[in-house]
Amino acid sequence: MTTEARVAEEIVRSCCRMDHGGCGILIQLRDGKPVSIEGDPDCRINRGTLCSKGLAGLHKLHSPHRLKYPLLRDGDRGEGKWKRISWDEALDLIATKMTEVKEEFGAESVVFGQGTHRSYENFLWRLANVFGSPNVMAAGYLCYYPRVIASHLTHGFYPIPDYEYPPSCVMMWGNNVVTTSADGVCGAQLLRALDRGSRFIVIDPRYTPMAARADVWVQLRPGSDLALALGMINVIIEEGLYDEDFVRDWTVGFDELRERAAEYPPEHVERITWVPPGILRDAARLYATSKPAAIQWGVAWE
Ligand code: SF4
Repeated sequence: MTTEARVAEEIVRSCCRMDHGGCGILIQLRDGKPVSIEGDPDCRINRGTLCSKGLAGLHKLHSPHRLKYPLLRDGDRGEGKWKRISWDEALDLIATKMTEVKEEFGAESVVFGQGTHRSYENFLWRLANVFGSPNVMAAGYLCYYPRVIASHLTHGFYPIPDYEYPPSCVMMWGNNVVTTSADGVCGAQLLRALDRGSRFIVIDPRYTPMAARADVWVQLRPGSDLALALGMINVIIEEGLYDEDFVRDWTVGFDELRERAAEYPPEHVERITWVPPGILRDAARLYATSKPAAIQWGVAWE
């Protein structure tokens, strides 16, 4: 426990929002103000651990660069000069500019955009609707929604690895939860599973610290993931490494999948992905023969 925590007057239990991992935190308050953050040992997601972003949460709160009121540029673009204005001035200025653009170019020339955090997106849609533009863009359209839609179309739900019952093998594909946690998963869970002996496959063009820990690192050409997946399915089907009972009882379209995957033998896939056939086969075999195995999947730019 830190010195500051020992003299804290109150401890508030909360949840870190520096990314979507959902780690439990304990915030120590002194004079009603937060003075330090620690991981909550009773939270089943992080079990008392915090990543560097979570530990830096208070820096974000107290940063002198944090935007707390409207600023108007007070110099040339790029000069870095700003002056504080009131909310009324800011709203009047924005409304005037938006009206000018609408009159000159039409309402549909305006795109309403927002960053991550999706809970106020409906208000943005309403604003765009009142303004007359159908154009709304949010970070979630690039990461969260494609993940959810792909999950429901393929699985019927949003699957995440069960790290509490550690998988024999984890294949981390297209993301790195140790750097940025996605919804419902935090990197500490994966690290605990590896410490408990899970074998590890990393599919990433970059040699990251996690790639360095992998039993098999598959360095693919960026953007060639689909061909790689079909190549791995090809190996799993050709070598009979799949669960025939499960396929018979719970899937549809397997014959079509077999036909499609037959077009992607590892030697052909190498030309698309730059992945040597031996490495592709190693990854496919390790994943298919480990029971249970999990895919830590995601969208690469998250
Ligand atoms: S993994 Fe995400 S939720 Fe957990 S401490 Fe780090 S930033 Fe916060």
